Amino acid sequence: MTTPTALSIAQDLLRCPSVTPADAGALGVLETLLKDAGFTTHRVTFSEPGTADIDNLYARIGDAAPHLCFAGHTDVVPPGEASAWSHGAFAGDVAEGLLYGRGAVDMKGGIACAVAATLDYLAANGGRPKGSISFLITGDEEDVAVNGTVKLLQWAAERGETFDHCIVGEPSNVEAIGDTIKIGRRGSQSGVLIVDGQQGHVAYPHRASNPVPDIARLITALNDEPLDAGSAQFQPSNLEFTSVDVGNPATNVIPAQARAKFNIRFNDHHTQDSLKSLVEQRLAAACGNRIRARIEWLPSNADVFVTKPGAFTDVVSASIAEVTGRTPDLNTGGGTSDARFIAKYCPVVEFGLVGQTMHQIDERTPVSDLDQLTAIYRGVLERYFA
Ligand SMILES: [Zn+2]
Repeated sequence: MTTPTALSIAQDLLRCPSVTPADAGALGVLETLLKDAGFTTHRVTFSEPGTADIDNLYARIGDAAPHLCFAGHTDVVPPGEASAWSHGAFAGDVAEGLLYGRGAVDMKGGIACAVAATLDYLAANGGRPKGSISFLITGDEEDVAVNGTVKLLQWAAERGETFDHCIVGEPSNVEAIGDTIKIGRRGSQSGVLIVDGQQGHVAYPHRASNPVPDIARLITALNDEPLDAGSAQFQPSNLEFTSVDVGNPATNVIPAQARAKFNIRFNDHHTQDSLKSLVEQRLAAACGNRIRARIEWLPSNADVFVTKPGAFTDVVSASIAEVTGRTPDLNTGGGTSDARFIAKYCPVVEFGLVGQTMHQIDERTPVSDLDQLTAIYRGVLERYFA
């Protein structure tokens, strides 16, 4: 029996218009393939008041360690103006060696490669891995992401599932397959700096306390002192003020309060808690006894994480080098993905297709990239279970 190619699986997925929260049959494509290959599959639906119910898929084969998990999402962002596409956003067309469609690189193509590589690996190894392989696939990543990976990981943990390593097939590469593995992300924490003064007439400043020059001083103080000098895997953390608001329509009134919003991108020198206390200490020092200021911290689920280079990243790098001849950059830049949630359970890397056209009109991938990524995942499976 021949196993399906990554291209044919990707086309089947692209033809499902699974714009979040719609599934449109995408998970079913994967479930059928994995079930036929001997996986035990579960469809799990999560709900939350005010959001659409979302379907998710967990599939596993094998019951021994080590357990390698491929994670990803089958939902996609909207196609935008349909007439602007040179091939239908949900047609799965191939033209001049390029596969077009919404999700081609982010990330139905990547999932298709992982499934094709796994089916080929199983066919060559008597149908069973020497450990366990699983697929953790959500339909809720691109939008608010509340009924997806976070809940699916909790659900799996409650069933006693443990993962040793995970690969998220997000489009990690910048220019060419194999140039970049994402091994972590900085954390993100937002806050509002609030300075309380006393309202009054500008002609009688001694009866008022003006928060405007005070918030300027505090912004300068917090902005100027570096949070750290960077670490082995990360650039320095940075704190950026993004707005200053007084909300005062008058020119002859000293306002009662000034507010400034800021966001911090932080590296592995900090946790959310240690970072907050560091900033609050600096604020207190800058305020002295005179200025009355405080920070309102906004909720954040974006903690810093890093998978330190080692045996697991070596397995992925060696497979990349074998197929492409490239030595990947182990990178911690860029925006967030579901990897930040998975990192709480096991070491995780992101490695998939080339991200150049993600979320754009005419999202597309060379078919040769699908072949290369499949070969790389195949090499990972070979080495991981060697
Ligand atoms: Zn994605």
